Amino acid sequence: MTDQKALQTLRIPTPSGPLRVLVSACLLGTLCGYDGSSYGDHPGAKRLTDYDTIRLIRFCPEDYAFGTPRELCDIHGGTGLDVLEGRARVLTESGLDWTEGMIRASEAMLDLARRRRVELAVLMDISAACGSQVIYDGSRLSENPTYQIGMGVCAAQLHRYGIPVISQRDFASLEILYRKLDPSHRVDPTAIDHHETDWYKAYFG
Ligand code: SF4
Repeated sequence: MTDQKALQTLRIPTPSGPLRVLVSACLLGTLCGYDGSSYGDHPGAKRLTDYDTIRLIRFCPEDYAFGTPRELCDIHGGTGLDVLEGRARVLTESGLDWTEGMIRASEAMLDLARRRRVELAVLMDISAACGSQVIYDGSRLSENPTYQIGMGVCAAQLHRYGIPVISQRDFASLEILYRKLDPSHRVDPTAIDHHETDWYKAYFG
């Protein structure tokens, strides 16, 4: 669930004092997905490039650690936080253990966020690295892939440090952000975050 209160308390940025936002590089069109794509188009995130009151800092932790293209990986035995705390592992589809590399990538992402004094992160949901609301529970290529509520390893690292994280599917949160970036933006009252969707409610109860 996103912390909309944290978004509400973000300062009002200006062109000379832009909001510093870390973004999953693929959300802005960088071809850094495991298959060398950007996983489609992400208009809600790309819209952020329209504002002069935001400084976007793009990063792909999996590309940093494993290069592109690369194998698919998922978290086994818990969430991203569990990986950081030694209770779960990151495994590729061929069985390689990428736990250490993923933790290193999360530390690099946090280091970048600290150096650039990031105030918010907008990350790609579902990813074992960047997922912020929902991730796979084990392999996504298994016979019966299942989801769990939780963050990927890199999102959990940022969140643990106190940086608010939202995903490209958190449309209500994005509306709040657009309004921060442009006070004349009229917030769409029908926009909802991922945890408010029918799919989420039906799946997680
Ligand atoms: S979701 Fe994160 S790790 Fe995956 S391609 Fe996008 S930026 Fe890279």
